[in-house]
Amino acid sequence: MRAEIISIGTELLLGEVADTNATYLASQLALLGLDVQWVSIVGDDLERLVDVFRRALCRSDIVISTGGLGPTADDLTREAIAEVMGEKATVSEHLGRELQALFQRLGRDMPPSNLKQATLIPSAQAIPNPRGTAPGWWVEREGKTMVAMPGPPGEMRRMWEREVVPRLREKVQGEVILCRTLKSFGLSEAEAGEMVGHLFTSGNPTVGVYARPDGIHVRLVAVAREHQEAASLIRDAELELRRALGDYVWGVDDDALEAVAGRLLMEKGLSVATMESCTGGLIASTLTDVAGSSAYFKGGFVPYSAEAKVALGVDGRLIERHGTVSPEVAGAMAEAARQCLGADIGISTTGVAGPDEVEGKAPGLVYIGMADSRGSSSLEGRYPPHRPDVKRRATVHALFALRQRLMTL
Ligand code: AMP
Ligand code: MG
Repeated sequence: MRAEIISIGTELLLGEVADTNATYLASQLALLGLDVQWVSIVGDDLERLVDVFRRALCRSDIVISTGGLGPTADDLTREAIAEVMGEKATVSEHLGRELQALFQRLGRDMPPSNLKQATLIPSAQAIPNPRGTAPGWWVEREGKTMVAMPGPPGEMRRMWEREVVPRLREKVQGEVILCRTLKSFGLSEAEAGEMVGHLFTSGNPTVGVYARPDGIHVRLVAVAREHQEAASLIRDAELELRRALGDYVWGVDDDALEAVAGRLLMEKGLSVATMESCTGGLIASTLTDVAGSSAYFKGGFVPYSAEAKVALGVDGRLIERHGTVSPEVAGAMAEAARQCLGADIGISTTGVAGPDEVEGKAPGLVYIGMADSRGSSSLEGRYPPHRPDVKRRATVHALFALRQRLMTL
């Protein structure tokens, strides 16, 4: 079944409000196995609204809209749907009484204009909205379904989860959709695409490759009549994916790299300490996003200047000889972190966050150091030279390197 999303509001067209409703609904509809082929944004204008709804109704089976259900003259979603359906909107006595009662509970008089939120057309059922005054509309006719929900994201989400999803599930009954995401690091999007693109030509499961801040994600979606069949499709495909991507895969679904590394540290009874220059503490911050990280994270330093590095135990002669941004200094920083805090593993970063070069080294160049009882080593990362991105990318890279190291210990 084809689904379509319509976001309504002139504020969205002006860029004053980001269309987060559509993003949310798109991901939700995919989970329901509904194929979203169109997303539109339209202003508060009756003619254009009618146009968008009419076109949506021709080409899609399920049309989901948000916004335009308020009480003011520029909230025109009901009017537009009524016109497209060729039906007349009238005030529902029942909804009118509910609305009155709501205002009474709030201790306020109901402005007469609010009454338009109590209107329905014959093909519409009201969808309850305990968070606001505007009920949604569930409209069904001739095999097509239209769902109109309010714009405020809190109201919309509650209505979607509690009221709309259960009804939509009934519609798509007889199909089970399962998803699985494999998360990798170290490949480019194109490389990952080439490695897995040829694997699933049947179209079930489908495979999607996405570049995300923590690496390349490969998402499988399988559709089947029964759960077992879908699960087996996913299982087989995952095995093939893992064979193709090998060591690059670090997690699945909701896994976060910091949690994956944390779990390994816990399992192996090891501790870690950080000494960060160009990432400015972001590795320590990310590691401590995980509940229970105090079990393995000893602490971290952010020695930004050369003197600070020396004060923490980095040999000044190394800095003079190789420069602050060098594999040698990265290794020494990792070892110093380990020594200072008595940790099993030390991680460090030293690099050029940009936009200017440092010591003749290009922005985006980062060395990540790693030290344990067997000695220290370092690896090189090169990222697009945009400061916040360099910090984030180097942090992900360091956490991935930590995971790789832990797998061998
Ligand atoms: P409405 O139902 O049109 O009265 O919407 C009221 C408010 O909801 C707007 O002023 C926005 O702040 C918010 N809103 C409407 N549409 C969206 C959307 N697509 N994404 C996020 N927020 C929205
Ligand atoms: Mg609006």
